Amino acid sequence: MKIAILTLFPAMFSGPFSESIVKRSQNKKIVEIEIDNLRNWAIDKRGTVDEKPYGGGVGMVLRPEPIFNAIDEILGKRVKRKAVRVVLLSASGSPYTQKKAIEYSKLDSLILICGHYEGVDQRVIDHVVDEEISIGDYVLTGGEIPAMVVVDSIVRLIPGVLENPEAIENESFSQDLLEYPQYTRPEEFMGYKVPSVLLGGNHKKIEKWRKEKSIEKTKKVRPDLLK
Ligand code: SAM
Repeated sequence: MKIAILTLFPAMFSGPFSESIVKRSQNKKIVEIEIDNLRNWAIDKRGTVDEKPYGGGVGMVLRPEPIFNAIDEILGKRVKRKAVRVVLLSASGSPYTQKKAIEYSKLDSLILICGHYEGVDQRVIDHVVDEEISIGDYVLTGGEIPAMVVVDSIVRLIPGVLENPEAIENESFSQDLLEYPQYTRPEEFMGYKVPSVLLGGNHKKIEKWRKEKSIEKTKKVRPDLLK
């Protein structure tokens, strides 16, 4: 899979993308990540990419020309057109979910546009972007951290990336339920004991207990998922 990220802050990605699973996916050549600096498509030599909003108001808005030109070039030269999605990270986008992560993980190519300042000119949303995605009901400074969240959640779903692909099957959200509680050694710690059912080796009983605990936790913290 090819992922291209259009950003004003390319250096932000170097740490998170050179560790753990995202790094491994690139080393294994399963995922190729390209970070594109939006200023390469600035409208002048000073590197201008933003302007005051029409109609007044505070802050600056990303101009359409740099983004239109950047996406044109990325689509034309470096990304396969088949099964490609152009996504804008946006506080006012549709909520990002595990279902969306699964959908994106099956694409050939994904282009992520990171907004900044007050956001991007609406013509980008109307004519370049396929989808606007929000990672939660709060406002961040820029789309870089949301883009990292999206990449991390997708990459681990691509076959061949995780050493233990079964790990994904029972994870939170996989069946609209949160994951059951996990325990490891020691069997007793500061007087707190591991539930005895997990020690008995009866797999049917363990499965039943885990399902009950999943439902219990989902009811308690995310009853909306059960609907
Ligand atoms: N004025 C915008 C609004 O009220 O919706 C907020 C702009 S925010 C300061 C700057 C950029 O951060 C956005 O263009 C978007 O790319 C990114 N961003 C902020 N919050 C986000 C969120 N919850 N999910 C995804 N992207 C977000």
